[in-house]
Amino acid sequence: MKIMIDAGHGGKDPGAIGNGLREKDLTLKLALRIGQLLAARGADVRYTRTDDTFVELSDRARAANTAKVDYFLSIHINAGGGTGFESFTYTGTSGATAALRNVIHRKVAAAFVASGLPDRGRKQANLAVLRETNMPAALLEYGFIDTAKDAALLKTEAFLEQIATATADGVAEAFGLPAAVVPAPVDTVSEWARAARDWAVSAGITDGTRPRDGVTREEVWTMLWRMNGGK
Ligand SMILES: [Zn+2]
Repeated sequence: MKIMIDAGHGGKDPGAIGNGLREKDLTLKLALRIGQLLAARGADVRYTRTDDTFVELSDRARAANTAKVDYFLSIHINAGGGTGFESFTYTGTSGATAALRNVIHRKVAAAFVASGLPDRGRKQANLAVLRETNMPAALLEYGFIDTAKDAALLKTEAFLEQIATATADGVAEAFGLPAAVVPAPVDTVSEWARAARDWAVSAGITDGTRPRDGVTREEVWTMLWRMNGGK
């Protein structure tokens, strides 16, 4: 599954501003985290931007069309005095575009409601990135930057993590992605290395932690020195 995640605005275009927040910063943070979570579930994640640069709307859509992604997800923060979450698909679309958006919307709206912000509903609009992309696409508006209650939540890492996770969960459910691949705990020693680790600990060469980490030059020096009786 290939997805283009579009962090709204950027560079000379800050997007909406309010309560000491800039839309372009929040959209980038959310986009990168959502992408990270989806990559961990095996998605091929592309971005229209990964830093604070300006990208034209048509270039965002063109990038998705050129990469032939399966889905285009545009990340925005609302303004204008409302409160809560809403999502958009292109005017008149139905079928897969509607079905995929519905799954994602349900997950993200639930995260907003759990934090006391309302679900403003599933909407349609004639937005450039939705109109010019060839694949199913949605644009999400994660709260209002100029509303104190919304902004207070958008300032917390916990809320950003909740809505990023909800979004990734929604995309994963919509496309049937597997659960995240959990890496082996860092303190698990490989079977073939266990006897050597136990010996190195008993000989006072190492404390036995972080068995799968790389070794630095200073750690090699210290291990050799301890083997030769150094303390
Ligand atoms: Zn925006």
